[in-house]
Amino acid sequence: MSRLPVMSTKRVLTSSSSENSQDMAPVQKKMRKDQDPQKPQTATTIIGDKRPPAAARASLYRPVRGVGAATVAVAPSRGVPKQVKASSAPKAASVKQQAATKPAGTGPTRRQPWDLKGKVSDMESKIRTYQTKIKSLSEENEVLKGSLAQSKTKAAELEREVERQRRKISEFEQEQQRLSGVQSELEKVSSEKNVLQKELSNLEQKYKVNETLRESQEMELQTLKMKQSVQETTMARLQATLKETEELVTSMKETVADQKDELHAGEMERRQLHNTIQELKGNIRVFCRVRPLEDGGLTKHIQLAPSDNKSIILAKTEESHTGKTADTQKNYHFSFDRVFGPQASQQEIFDEISLLVQSALDGYNVCCFAYGQTGSGKTYTMEGEEVDDTRGVIPRAVQQIFRAGAKLQSQGWEFSFTASFVEIYNETLRDLLYSGKASKRPEHEIRKAANNEVTVTNLTYEKVYSEDQVLGLIALAKQNRSTAQTALNDRSSRSHSVFQLQIEGVNSGRDVKCKSILCLVDLAGSERMVKSQSQGERFKEMTSINSSLSNLGIVITSLANKESHVPYRNTKLTYLLQNCLGGNSKTLMFVNISPEPDSFGETLNSLRFASKVNDCIIGTASSNKK
Ligand code: ADP
Ligand code: MG
Repeated sequence: MSRLPVMSTKRVLTSSSSENSQDMAPVQKKMRKDQDPQKPQTATTIIGDKRPPAAARASLYRPVRGVGAATVAVAPSRGVPKQVKASSAPKAASVKQQAATKPAGTGPTRRQPWDLKGKVSDMESKIRTYQTKIKSLSEENEVLKGSLAQSKTKAAELEREVERQRRKISEFEQEQQRLSGVQSELEKVSSEKNVLQKELSNLEQKYKVNETLRESQEMELQTLKMKQSVQETTMARLQATLKETEELVTSMKETVADQKDELHAGEMERRQLHNTIQELKGNIRVFCRVRPLEDGGLTKHIQLAPSDNKSIILAKTEESHTGKTADTQKNYHFSFDRVFGPQASQQEIFDEISLLVQSALDGYNVCCFAYGQTGSGKTYTMEGEEVDDTRGVIPRAVQQIFRAGAKLQSQGWEFSFTASFVEIYNETLRDLLYSGKASKRPEHEIRKAANNEVTVTNLTYEKVYSEDQVLGLIALAKQNRSTAQTALNDRSSRSHSVFQLQIEGVNSGRDVKCKSILCLVDLAGSERMVKSQSQGERFKEMTSINSSLSNLGIVITSLANKESHVPYRNTKLTYLLQNCLGGNSKTLMFVNISPEPDSFGETLNSLRFASKVNDCIIGTASSNKK
């Protein structure tokens, strides 16, 4: 395809459009050249089938008339090509000359009519002339015939040549068509080539970019390889260090395990020692707390020894009956494990109890009562108020237990706590953590299981996980208590409220368990009523309170005296608390007293009751370890 220049195709195209005209020109020229040697022959002048016009031919073949040579000389007309004239010139010239030799003017003059001889001679010469002419003409005719045959041959040749040329032309045309197809293909290819070239240049650019990128990445790779080798070195070093450290850790673990064993042994020893101290202090202890006067003034009849904090004197001045003798003062001396004056803070009070709370965590049952007449500060001591400093024993004990429990976790102890809050009024139990409808309040009964565990039916036993949760429960209990009382009937002072926290500790690693109960009891007011005032419901209340408080005293005493029968079942209070009292537990009684002089009688009663309890020595407690 490409070997054919485009221009050649064009040339073919243009030449073909004039095939019958100019195209023939070169052929004619060639033929003319070929014919040149035969030029003298007249016939050769007839080319391309173009015969001379009839006039010319007539001049050649017409029988010579007597009109004379002038006619012959004029004969060649416009249609005869000049060349014919030229080529036939010699013969024509001779004919002309012959005619010219006898011009009308120079020919024999007109014969006289009589000159017949002359006329005959003229006619004879004319005949001779004509004969000569005929002869030359027939010669010429022969020549022309030969020439015609030649011309015919030539024409046939030319026709063949034309045919060949036509075939060539059609071949050229085919070739041209093919070439135009090739051209369009070429154009397509060249446009494709352009596209590809653009693409190529794009790719080249991309390649350059990639090359740059690759170079930078290679550099990065080199850097990374270097870093890697550095890190490998570091790692090898670290691995060595790690191995050393691991060995160290192993040995340290062993040490830690040893130390843990030691710690556990130490903890067990601490418990034992703690218990010994508690026992030496007495498994039942009585603390006396004097409430401050409402106006903050001083009380004369209550005297606290400044030297120690264990005794209290209740002094009563008795007027002389006769008036003659001086007034006599009667002093009642009491001593307890601790006596707290009106200035003692909630924290000071708790510091003493916290040792017992620790015992509860160590697995001993602990029971703490607040005894005293209404208004003496029992609730203040047990529950206190909401501000931090004024918080009572219950929230502080709970706080201590949660914190100590969390600390013991590091030694493998897991503690769980369950709280309940129950009110005993007129020998009836009431759930203080009940949050349902008042109308659907269930009834409760105290049950003792085969394993001696005491439970209350239908009571809320709430699993507690935080101090705040316990504070919420205390608030709920307070609300429940206040809904039960009216302005005329301050029921809270005539009912016992018992907060119990069941503590369960497991040290699974050492297969040690402990279970204990911490009971914090706000007792009913211990005041005695004037019999005339107590009738009906009040009388029932009074009897119930009196019997339960005195039974509490009896139970403690009989436990102290190791009597075979302990009357737990006599009251709901002692029955509920039976596991927290007695040989297996530690008991603390707060005796709260009011400082007002008119409370003297009640104060004396309270102190007497408390000192009776204080005199009891309950058998050595043993921890509930399993
Ligand atoms: P009880 O529960 O024995 O009937 P309360 O605890 O309700 O007595 O105390 C009666 C009042 O005396 C309350 O207003 C209480 O705040 C207040 N009170 C009791 N003890 C103290 C004390 N140690 N310090 C200050 N106020 C006290
Ligand atoms: Mg109270």
